[in-house]
Order: sequence, then C-alpha cells, then structure tokens
Amino acid sequence: MGKREEANQLADKIFQLFADKPYVDEMVVTIFDTFVRDKEGDSQPFLRLANSCQDHTTEIIQKLRRLGLDVEHVQLQAFYPKQTIIAVSVNELNKFGCPHCGYRSGAMPVSGGGSGVWQCGECGKTCCVLAEGVVKSTIGFNGEYPELQSHPRRGTPAHGRPDNKPDSGGEFFRSRGIGLDDCSCFVCGTKGHPMLHNIAAFVQCKEAGERVVTMIGQGAVLDYREYEPDRVQVKVGACDAHYANLEELDRLVSSGTISTNVVKMARDFSLTPSK
Ligand SMILES: [Zn+2]
Ligand SMILES: [Zn+2]
Ligand SMILES: [Zn+2]
Repeated sequence: MGKREEANQLADKIFQLFADKPYVDEMVVTIFDTFVRDKEGDSQPFLRLANSCQDHTTEIIQKLRRLGLDVEHVQLQAFYPKQTIIAVSVNELNKFGCPHCGYRSGAMPVSGGGSGVWQCGECGKTCCVLAEGVVKSTIGFNGEYPELQSHPRRGTPAHGRPDNKPDSGGEFFRSRGIGLDDCSCFVCGTKGHPMLHNIAAFVQCKEAGERVVTMIGQGAVLDYREYEPDRVQVKVGACDAHYANLEELDRLVSSGTISTNVVKMARDFSLTPSK
C-alpha cells in the first residue's frame, strides 16, 4: 500500500473517530509529506492537531492517541479585524434595537450634530445613531465617520428584558437601599405625610413587577415609566414604627430575590422577640 493511500485511510479513520461530535463539520485533515528524522535516521509519521477553539482539545487528543501515533498539539490563534462601527437611523434603532443583539434599551453618552454614540444595555457594544435625514456621522469613531446603513436586524422587533425568574424561586428584586418616598407602610398601612421610609428595587420587567406588588400586597407600588421600560422598580414603604421591618426586608433581599416567605418574615420581624 502506497504512503498516500495509507494516509487517506488514516484520514478516514480520524473522521470516523469524531463522527458523532458536533465539531466534526469544522474539522479538516491535511496530509503533509513532511519527513522528520532523529539522529539515528529513524522517521515515523505523526499527527499534528492545530485548533483555535480549545474547548475540546483534551477530548480530541485522547481520541487521536487511539490511532497509536505521536500527537503534537499546536494552538492556532484567530485574529479578527477591529470592530467597525455600525451607523443606523434613530427610527430603526427604536424599531429593531441594538444592531448587535436587538436589545431596546441603552445609553447615549455623547450626541451632537444629528449623530450619537449609543451603548447597548445588554451586550454593551457601541453603535452610531443618526437622526432622520443624516447620512454620515459627525462624531468620529477611531478617526472614522460611519455612514448610514440599513439595520442588520431589520424585520426582527427589538426585545426588552426577558421575564425571567430566579432558579431558587420567587422573583428578582434588586434593592437600591432605603430612602424616602410618598408611600404607605407595608406592615400597618399608614400613609405617608408626605414621606415614609422606602425601599426601591429593580425588578425584571413590568409583568414581574406586577407579580411582586401582588406578592407584597399592602405598602407596595409599581414604578413603571413608558420611556424606561427596562428600568422597572417596585417601592415598599414603612412608617417610623416599622423602620426595623423595612431594614429586615432589605437584609433578606440582599441576594437579589424576594419571595412570599421573605415578605412574611420581614412583616413579622420584631426587635423585642415576643414570648
Ligand atoms: Zn469548540
Ligand atoms: Zn446589544
Ligand atoms: Zn407601620
């Protein structure tokens, strides 16, 4: 059997070894005539694994060793061109969200001359936003002035924060600490005149916020603003007499979640334990 034929059979064996692996489609086997000899003049074929993704390296080497040949491993590095800034119209940004991921909320740290720098609140990437009728940014990005292009996600509506719940149960509830607001006490129902102590907490979305308000009941209100649909808060109040209960609630939600049980524990909390 000729060397070339032997090598081809080996290549077939290699593909068989990885036939059930999802990454087999990314694999290629290249046959080199490289002749490597040692000081005795001995030479033998060997396998050289060259890969950029290192997720499966150990598994791949283990499988290749079954072929009884030496395996050499070379780590490839991929270099991608620098991110070029995408410029979209403000109308398309509103409809389709971030050009990279489709998220609808973000911040505009710099704007002027019908152009803006927009940073996505989800993936964190930056794009350029142009006012209607503006076709080239007046703001430079690394010395480049991006020109208007069609939104890469045109046709896919922008998305907000998903209505996720914690794996541990309950709802997400990220307290911003205790402040003052016009509200009522979650323990006794006292109304503020005009201000009471209060916790403001971010919840996952409007629907989750409505569930949290129902869960807490007395003293909880939803703070939803149409122009900030992904910064939804629930506010919980407490009178002076029940400030300790509010502090206890704040302590119990420090992991970022709230549950019916947590609300009950905070309501029942007492500085002087009842006998
Ligand atoms: Zn991989
Ligand atoms: Zn994004
Ligand atoms: Zn009270």
